Amino acid sequence: MSDPFAGALKQLEKIKKIVNLEENIYEQLKSPQKFLAVSIPIKMDNGKIKVFQGYRSQFNDARGPFKGGIRFHPQVNESEVKALSMWMALKTAVVNIPLGGGKGGVIVNPKELSAGELERLSRGYIDAIWQFIGPNIDVPAPDVYTDPKIMGWMMDEYEKLVGQHAPGVITGKPLSIGGSKARGYSTAQGGFYVLREAIKKLGLKNSKAAIQGFGNAGASMAKILVENDYKVVAVSDSKGGIANAKGLDVEKLMAHKEKTNTVVNFVDAKNIEDAILEQETDILVLAALENSVTAENAGQIKAHLIIELANGPITLDADEILSAANVTVVPDILANAGGVAVSYFEQVQNAYGYYWEEDEVLQKLEKLMVVSFNEVWERKEKYKSDMRMGAYALAVERVAQAMKDRGRV
Ligand code: NAD
Repeated sequence: MSDPFAGALKQLEKIKKIVNLEENIYEQLKSPQKFLAVSIPIKMDNGKIKVFQGYRSQFNDARGPFKGGIRFHPQVNESEVKALSMWMALKTAVVNIPLGGGKGGVIVNPKELSAGELERLSRGYIDAIWQFIGPNIDVPAPDVYTDPKIMGWMMDEYEKLVGQHAPGVITGKPLSIGGSKARGYSTAQGGFYVLREAIKKLGLKNSKAAIQGFGNAGASMAKILVENDYKVVAVSDSKGGIANAKGLDVEKLMAHKEKTNTVVNFVDAKNIEDAILEQETDILVLAALENSVTAENAGQIKAHLIIELANGPITLDADEILSAANVTVVPDILANAGGVAVSYFEQVQNAYGYYWEEDEVLQKLEKLMVVSFNEVWERKEKYKSDMRMGAYALAVERVAQAMKDRGRV
């Protein structure tokens, strides 16, 4: 089994040398501040109790309350939750929002649960961790296989336990109970803003894109790209891929996916099985899962620019191959930070009890993403490295500064 946290620690070691990170801070960044493992007993529809295993990793809160999603997936494990919590601490620092990093998960395949079982599990997870979360302590959000409906149940459970309204305890909520406008597609929208900046920097003239993963992040990105006159020439999902060099009709494709549960066999395209990485394209958007680009397949990539909407889609070895081939990678902790940025805006709106229009949210998001992109680019140039190391350098500098200012050295 892969060990994502071991990989994350290797990245940290690399950045320690680049930015000359103090030993006393590095030692503290090698493990989460707090790690909670809980058992969640749920009465299943057949009357039997099943005990699920859940986690919450609170990585670092020097810059503000821990912040990060909750994943419901059969492959959730301690190492993955820890790695994702570290990336969250770096992500909130890259976009300079006053939050730390955390992550949660439950080992479960939610597709095998009834609606009632899923609700009891969601409430049960909060029953197990509620004393460790709160608007000023640790603020969860959706991640893979969790959604606004689940966030609504979780907030309701938390509020029952504390006996008061506390919408800021969780983000990614439905609009009717304190969600933010634009949150649903904010990850892709933020990714699009940095993609546009990268294109300017690289002087890329063409605008053909291929997208791996056609879920929340990938499909939203496809829609935004087409709205902005880019051509989406290929997409894939877990069942296979499709391509059309003239560009896909994304609205029609979304309807096809809705109906058939896959992008495969779309009328206006040819099936390409799992050959998405090999497609002739200028831009490649990675929006599926971890480790999809490896040393084995990195050499097949023809794109000049890669946007990591997924967390950790490129392995360390593959990263080196791409860097040597002069492919620019906009790293996950910058490229997909639009999601947590709008989560932060949601918390601000919850604290004020005053809600913004969609264009106000988008204006604020655009400004934040463009500034962050340029700060990362500056670090990349300063350290004569790639954008990933530029982003890590910026993030680690900011976390280290907050730790020093708190006297945690
Ligand atoms: P999702 O479950 O909605 O979509 C995932 C998509 O990837 C699905 O279309 C699935 O079929 C596809 N997929 C799975 N395996 C694949 C494979 N081998 N090849 C091609 N496609 C494959 O999830 P999502 O919310 O879109 O998240 C995708 C990634 O983006 C995850 O890494 C997640 O952590 C990251 N992310 C999402 C958000 C967000 O706001 N949604 C925010 C930050 C990061």
